Amino acid sequence: MRVTVPDYYENFRCLAGDCPHTCCEKWEVVIDEASAAFYETVPGPLGEKLRSALKKDQDGDLCFPLNGGRCPFLDSENLCEIHKELGEEATSVTCREHPRFTEDYGSFREVTLSASCPAANALLLGSEAPLTFHTFETEEAEEEGDEWLNYLLPLRSRLLDILTDRSCPLEARLASFLSLALSAQNCLDDDRPKAMNDAAEAPIPPAEDPLFPAALDFLASLEVLDADWPSLLEQAAAAEKTPQPEALLERIAVYFAFRYLLKAVNDGDLLSRAELVVFAVLVVERLAAVCGLPEALRRFSAEIEHDDDNLEALLEALRWDFGPGELAAALE
Ligand code: SF4
Repeated sequence: MRVTVPDYYENFRCLAGDCPHTCCEKWEVVIDEASAAFYETVPGPLGEKLRSALKKDQDGDLCFPLNGGRCPFLDSENLCEIHKELGEEATSVTCREHPRFTEDYGSFREVTLSASCPAANALLLGSEAPLTFHTFETEEAEEEGDEWLNYLLPLRSRLLDILTDRSCPLEARLASFLSLALSAQNCLDDDRPKAMNDAAEAPIPPAEDPLFPAALDFLASLEVLDADWPSLLEQAAAAEKTPQPEALLERIAVYFAFRYLLKAVNDGDLLSRAELVVFAVLVVERLAAVCGLPEALRRFSAEIEHDDDNLEALLEALRWDFGPGELAAALE
């Protein structure tokens, strides 16, 4: 099977006990059945602790409820007791996979590294070169992919090319990106896949209302992971926008575009995901005036990308409240 990853993927190393924002805090990890079954067999004090810590959450999933906001297996040196005593393979699938986001499309797979992880974030923002992707083959057998992928893949390449065309300013590229996505969405809606790749940029409707501060108020109304997120959004609403390196904003746009655009194969909604890319760049740029660009991206990613309800609510808002017109006006 073909697997595609960002060009910095192989350089990722977990910071483990030195991580300033460990992923073993704040999130309650769902424990997969195979790991839970294995924990039933672990002898000694660690086995007893594993079995007594394992509980069902409100959705009926097995998890280790947090203790003072921390995973009960995170020791005083911020290291995982399970990993230390039993090896990485004994940790749950979620723990082993983090910070990887894996998207399986049947005939190929794409893996990215969440920008909420400080080590992955530093790799993404540690270069001003255009972000590229590597593909390699694995032994795994391919399955048949959705027919729409044949049209969505070249379209995404075209959209990524627009984002990385450094011959024009990033704002203009983001506006072109939106208008091509708008036009391609019309082809998707009319069930004309072949027309999608010949689609020309469509005129963007005028904005009805300004994007800011409404976008920040909306984010503050979502589920909160870090208690100070609403206050960070409030400060960003009051702060003057500060210029951020265009090359890094471009890498952020490409990070989101690569991860989300192809997911339109599941529900036919390309436009909201293209809007998500532009929205993320604009919001992260605003937040950066308060906490700096890497931290702004890390916080946005943690609050939105790791909470399915928040992500779905944002896509819904992009469908109905913040359209291409509002986003394009905010780029001017
Ligand atoms: S957030 Fe990233 S660097 Fe930190 S502990 Fe988790 S995987 Fe490792």
